[in-house]
Amino acid sequence: MIESKIKSTVRDVYDFPKPGIVFKDITPILKDAALCLEIAQALAAQLKGIEIDVVAGIESRGFLFGPALAQLLNVPFVPIRKAGKLPYKTVQQTYNLEYGSATIELHEDALVAGQKVLIHDDLLATGGTVVAASELVMQLGAEVAGYSFIIGLDFLNGRVRLEPYCNKIFSLASY
Ligand code: 5GP
Repeated sequence: MIESKIKSTVRDVYDFPKPGIVFKDITPILKDAALCLEIAQALAAQLKGIEIDVVAGIESRGFLFGPALAQLLNVPFVPIRKAGKLPYKTVQQTYNLEYGSATIELHEDALVAGQKVLIHDDLLATGGTVVAASELVMQLGAEVAGYSFIIGLDFLNGRVRLEPYCNKIFSLASY
């Protein structure tokens, strides 16, 4: 089963990026080509029946499987990046972190008004990042069609923050 394969491959790194945090390191997955293909296919299979025009992936781990997912769905992939990384004109969204704030951006021509956008990232924690990504999508007049993650840290209740935007929230492995 894909969930047990993911859980047995992901590595827990204690006290990263700071003391007290147990970081789910997905890099061991990337060393297993067959598992990568299985994950991309499972991400796509979960979305069956949902209308999706574009996959938007969040920097940086959302770039690992986002393009493969978009290819399987036969739709474009667009990158959501940290401020200052995208070369063309952008829209921006700032959100609060535990300490301070962060800004993410999307090219202003990445989406067309009315498009249905699947937001993808490797992991859902508190939901702050994908809420900001949802606001970016809406700034361009597009709508959130769903959320796709490899891992959901369900005990952090990120889903509750996403539901007002879209309640189609999928992950392959939950903690
Ligand atoms: P959130 O905004 O939901 O609190 O945090 C999710 C974002 O932080 C995602 O972009 C994700 O890549 C990153 N993140 C937070 N914790 C972890 C973790 O334990 N493992 C990985 N791989 N990413 C994490």
